[in-house]
Amino acid sequence: MSINELFKSVATQTEETEFATPIPDGYRRGHTKYVIVFGTVMSGLGKGIFASSLAKLLQDKGLRVAPIKLEGYLNVDSGTLNPYRHGEVFVLDDGMECDMDLGTYERMLDKDLARDSFATSGQVYQAVLERERLGGYQGRDVQMIPHVTGEVKRRLRQLAVRTGADVVFVEIGGTAGDFENAYFIEAMRQLAYEEGPENVCFVALTLILEPGILGEQKSKAAQLGIKRLLEMGIQPHLIACRAANPVTDKVREKISIYTNVPISRIFSMHDEASIYLIPARMRREGVDTQVTHLLNLVDRASPRAEQRAAEAWETFCDRIRRPRHEVAIAITGKYTAVRDSYASMIKALEHAGAALDARVNIQWVETTELDGAGAARALAGADGMIVPGGFGARGTEGKIACIRYARENVLPFLGLCFGFQMAVVEFARNECGLAGANSTEIQHDTPHPVIDLLPEQRQVREFGGTMRLGGHDVEVLPGTLAARMFRQARTVRLRFRHRYEVNPDYVERLAKGGLVFSGKAPGQPIMQILELPGHPYFVATQSHPEFTSRPLAPSPFYLGLVAAALGRRAVGPAEAAAAPQACKRKKAKR
Ligand code: GLN
Repeated sequence: MSINELFKSVATQTEETEFATPIPDGYRRGHTKYVIVFGTVMSGLGKGIFASSLAKLLQDKGLRVAPIKLEGYLNVDSGTLNPYRHGEVFVLDDGMECDMDLGTYERMLDKDLARDSFATSGQVYQAVLERERLGGYQGRDVQMIPHVTGEVKRRLRQLAVRTGADVVFVEIGGTAGDFENAYFIEAMRQLAYEEGPENVCFVALTLILEPGILGEQKSKAAQLGIKRLLEMGIQPHLIACRAANPVTDKVREKISIYTNVPISRIFSMHDEASIYLIPARMRREGVDTQVTHLLNLVDRASPRAEQRAAEAWETFCDRIRRPRHEVAIAITGKYTAVRDSYASMIKALEHAGAALDARVNIQWVETTELDGAGAARALAGADGMIVPGGFGARGTEGKIACIRYARENVLPFLGLCFGFQMAVVEFARNECGLAGANSTEIQHDTPHPVIDLLPEQRQVREFGGTMRLGGHDVEVLPGTLAARMFRQARTVRLRFRHRYEVNPDYVERLAKGGLVFSGKAPGQPIMQILELPGHPYFVATQSHPEFTSRPLAPSPFYLGLVAAALGRRAVGPAEAAAAPQACKRKKAKR
């Protein structure tokens, strides 16, 4: 069978051929181009940041892009992973629990992605094994090559068909030389052969070391790392060098000699103060035009669209570089040691800060040992506070103490998911006379289970993918702060990941105490937003608004918090406490 016949056949494997690449219905070879990003030397170089920045630049040219991340681990999704080890679990609108890099793509591209942008080895093997059980391999022995690699390629092409993408961006998790992702790399080699020249662009991300004792950049690790890719049949077209400082010409020349990549396609990707400054630099260095030439995409690109997009982005970048104001936001949490476990929240603060021309400095507060006096000390220098999502009992009493402090001292406060639940517990205990109120997640036999399992969660026995997940509509109560924040929209869409909720039996008592539930699930008694009138900003939500905050369209929850924090900073904490209305919210721009 020739390659051309393969694309006509829609065949799985038959007796007559060794090809086993199912081509999805409607797939046209050459219509979709592929940019495939590999990591070398070590993980954590920011493949997702590089790939999403490049994807953004092509999107700015009016091209339709679709990213996919291939993860080597056997978990079917990221939902069961510990964020302390693997970074935050990001949730897509369709409920997929995935790698935090998907958040980077959604933010850079300002686009909701779906579950077909995320594939793990677990999913790939599961699909192959299910097909085998259904007799899909017609008596053949099922092998890594061609069947498992065929399933990987099928997913990329299926994504191309569904999205109609001009360019599919593939990010290969891990590093060249890992055992786990070797078959992904092999599948990419096959893909390039099948798709033909000018249809696939390989990019290698690598690391340039600069040991302090030598004081100069060394390229050996990069050379060896890229050699691993060459051994696997991947000749990169483009190399991006991660480094602390701009990569010297000498180092770029050395890499060029060892890798067959012309020096004009070896880029320095040195550190920036914010990842959002990277696309503009890549554009200046011409990474995007190299790719459009390599893939012969020049005709499809629109210079006018590009000009407009570049200007909007530049304004945003200017505010990140040189903000006029500054605020300090305290964040309480269990995973305070690892910033990756709160990646989206940190980004959402950056977006809101840029919109308000302010740098947001984060102060991490460890709550495990915190009591009331400790909370007062820990929050003394903060202009606002976030209590983020979380699971389990550790540190919860400290979080409750912090929320009480914020409520009583009119410190702007935003509670997220678990933080929303803890705000309800605090209010129930200290304002509604419900001593010992708690969440049943923390204390099974609490006298007042103000937070309890969602009814549909009671039957759930399996662990993976079983929470209330993904995008849900929220009905906003007119006349509330939430309604103003959302510019009077009656319903808004937010993302969720939880098993517990405000116990509907307590809603009336909490409302009598003065708490306003300003957002609810349509037609269901699930409380989703709360606020406290009279306080400059005491707002919490059962959702994760950080998942839908975008650089040029920040989440109103975060905008409101940063604006209130700026107000408090302007008048000072003492005056803010004496006259809460003095710290007026600045008008938030969207
Ligand atoms: N543990 C809480 C729940 O399951 C909150 C979850 C979260 O913060 N994502 O409802």
